[in-house]
Amino acid sequence: MTMDGKIVITCACTGAETSKDIQPALPITPDEVASTAEECRAAGAAILHLHVRDGNGKATQSVVRFREAIDAIRRKTDIVIEITTGGAVGDSAEERLRPVKELEPEMASLDCGTVNFGNEYIVNTLPVMREFAAEFRQRKVRATLECFDLGHVYASHYLVKEGLIDAPFHYGFVLNVPGAVPYSVENLSAFMRALPAGANFTVMGIGRSSLPAQYGAIANGGWIRVGFEDNVYFSRGVLASSNAQMVERAARIAREAGLQPATPDDVRKELRLRA
Ligand code: ZN
Repeated sequence: MTMDGKIVITCACTGAETSKDIQPALPITPDEVASTAEECRAAGAAILHLHVRDGNGKATQSVVRFREAIDAIRRKTDIVIEITTGGAVGDSAEERLRPVKELEPEMASLDCGTVNFGNEYIVNTLPVMREFAAEFRQRKVRATLECFDLGHVYASHYLVKEGLIDAPFHYGFVLNVPGAVPYSVENLSAFMRALPAGANFTVMGIGRSSLPAQYGAIANGGWIRVGFEDNVYFSRGVLASSNAQMVERAARIAREAGLQPATPDDVRKELRLRA
């Protein structure tokens, strides 16, 4: 749903898998992430999707690392912070959930099922999803219900029916992960048809589907996610110079379509984030 001619842009600036070898402008330290957050906010992003890394650049669910990053971001910008509970491939459910329990961010991702992830796989059983949803609800952390597969959208209905998630619902459709569902207009439409009434959704096109997915989001009243977690190239064979460059383009094409990038406070109001 597009709110009053506005569109929400999320920047997933770091992710769990990308490295500086592949994308030299990847932000890793708290200072790098905070500067990125500030630049992306200025370029039109309202939400920062956050992963953190350890001293070796490896993805971690360390509460200490998340706290450092969040504190550094907060010193620079009012952007809404959404932390991952996906973690890195292979993390236990308990490890993945710990930063939500201890830091109570405004938003966090909640993966809605098991799926191939390249040559690895992500495991989320319904009992794990229920545990996460209950914890989020108790702490008033707004979930982005990440769906990599059509079955994940239907799996999320159990959480809704069981009262484990409160409206307004916000989904993230993660399309084009190798081994899962490619981005296409038809596939996006199928995911949309499976949504509970009144849900908002962000379209995340991985790799070369990033730009088509942004147009798909705009055309269908969805929201946009860009950033190095999803895609490191600005165009075919050309690396993006920064996360902000991706946000700038997303904001530009949204404006061309008559939409204004939403502010963090617009998101706080629309998704009724904890004050
Ligand atoms: Zn993520």
